[in-house]
Amino acid sequence: MTELRLFNSLTRQLETFTPVHAGEARIYTCGPTVYNYPHIGNMRAYVFADTLGRVLSYEGYKLTHVINITDVGHLTDDADAGEDKMEKMAAEKAQSIWDIARHYTEAYWADIKALNIRQPAHWSIATDYVPQMIDYAKSIADKHCYELESGLYFDTSTVAHYGALARAKTEDGEGRIEEVEGKRNAADFAIWRKTPAGETRQMEWDSPWGKGAPGWHLECSVMSEALLGLPFDIHTGGIDHREIHHPNEIAQNQARCGSNHSGARFWMHNNFLIERSGKMSKSSCEFLRVQLLIDKGFHPLAYRLMCLQAHYRSELEFSWEGLQAAFVRLKRMVMGVANLKSRHAELVPESIVPKAPMVQADTWTLKQVQGNVAPILSAPLKDFVAAATDDLNTAIAITALETVLGLKKVDVAQQLATIADMDKVLGLNLMTLTRQDLRVRPKAATITEEDIENALAARKEARAAKDFAKSDAIRDDLIAKGVEVMDGDPLGWDWKLDI
Ligand code: AMP
Ligand code: ZN
Repeated sequence: MTELRLFNSLTRQLETFTPVHAGEARIYTCGPTVYNYPHIGNMRAYVFADTLGRVLSYEGYKLTHVINITDVGHLTDDADAGEDKMEKMAAEKAQSIWDIARHYTEAYWADIKALNIRQPAHWSIATDYVPQMIDYAKSIADKHCYELESGLYFDTSTVAHYGALARAKTEDGEGRIEEVEGKRNAADFAIWRKTPAGETRQMEWDSPWGKGAPGWHLECSVMSEALLGLPFDIHTGGIDHREIHHPNEIAQNQARCGSNHSGARFWMHNNFLIERSGKMSKSSCEFLRVQLLIDKGFHPLAYRLMCLQAHYRSELEFSWEGLQAAFVRLKRMVMGVANLKSRHAELVPESIVPKAPMVQADTWTLKQVQGNVAPILSAPLKDFVAAATDDLNTAIAITALETVLGLKKVDVAQQLATIADMDKVLGLNLMTLTRQDLRVRPKAATITEEDIENALAARKEARAAKDFAKSDAIRDDLIAKGVEVMDGDPLGWDWKLDI
């Protein structure tokens, strides 16, 4: 097992990962609030958490990953102001909250699948845990909470070093928004929000503090403790959570388990995907969802590769050109693997040696490959592992994989096995993706693949017969239909739909 170094937001330092329970890694990832479709920035947070989980699995830890689904309690403003996001969307759409939650949870899961994010051990749904949330709140209420007309509030002055994760100033008025009248400290937050007198919410529960709904921060403390036990190994989320949501979770965990106890050994945060024209805003008409990328003809794993090309702690600027470049790189890798597979098939006829086990990702482990690997493959493999375990330096790890892909005069089966092994960490499905899979049909396309292939065959015939007028006419017609004909493309791609 290689030493795994991870950046801990608590200490703002790289630290060596040592598990709480020998041989195990337990991760909790703050999941989406399912009031709308996730944008691709949100999905960067899950690609990061998935990559972290993959590295831990690769290193041999038994992984238990939990991602929650917030279907109640998240307000439109993190400072306890505004409306409940779910109630607001349900009212706008004139649908029940449960229908809204189901629809957007399914859409989120579709994106998870499209990006080849592994299924966690548990998808914890917040509304399934409300009784536990009430019990949890009761257990800390006397010492750490106070009641206002609008709900039960956590008194952040009752725990040591509140806000240390955010490096926030906690004095009144600095760094935080007061918003709710009567709070003892500006940073205090609701752990139970009472339904205002005379109102009925679609989602509300009885509690010792009256009918109402749990606070968003409470959910994650309760579900992480229930499913992983405290302390667990790693808590992840986007960098915005480092400022309010996670400090509040930590305060609750401290109230529950003692002040020296943040709840997790590591708190890790991915930086933001940014997009300057505002298309990532969920209110924008063409907002950047995974489905939009697919509709425009990109394979979703090109977006995964785009994420992995950057370090998770760096901002990543989205552009269509950047996505296109990542897509071409992915195609290059897939074609490289296809090439190796066909060479392997020539070298080892299936009738003599069954070749499937050599190239199936699941049948190879790092140890097996390392044990068998030819010296020329071991150097890039070593670089790959060193990069992956160096705070998930996937950008370097990808180049190590490309080095392996480009090697000549090496045992092809070992080469493929090494790539399959590396792809367990990167999750690009390199061993199974085909050229056909990568030909994603843009939604606006009017011409079928079959028609394109037929037109190209006719053009080839015309050229062979030196009928250049005809071949040019066919090409012009294809261009008019959005087909770019790529004569002499080094990847042998021949054509692409450019709409
Ligand atoms: P939400 O559904 O708003 O709670 O967000 C889900 C996850 O996406 C959280 O971990 C956020 O921190 C993260 N997130 C939100 N916006 C971005 C972004 N632009 N880039 C990366 N992560 C983001
Ligand atoms: Zn959370």
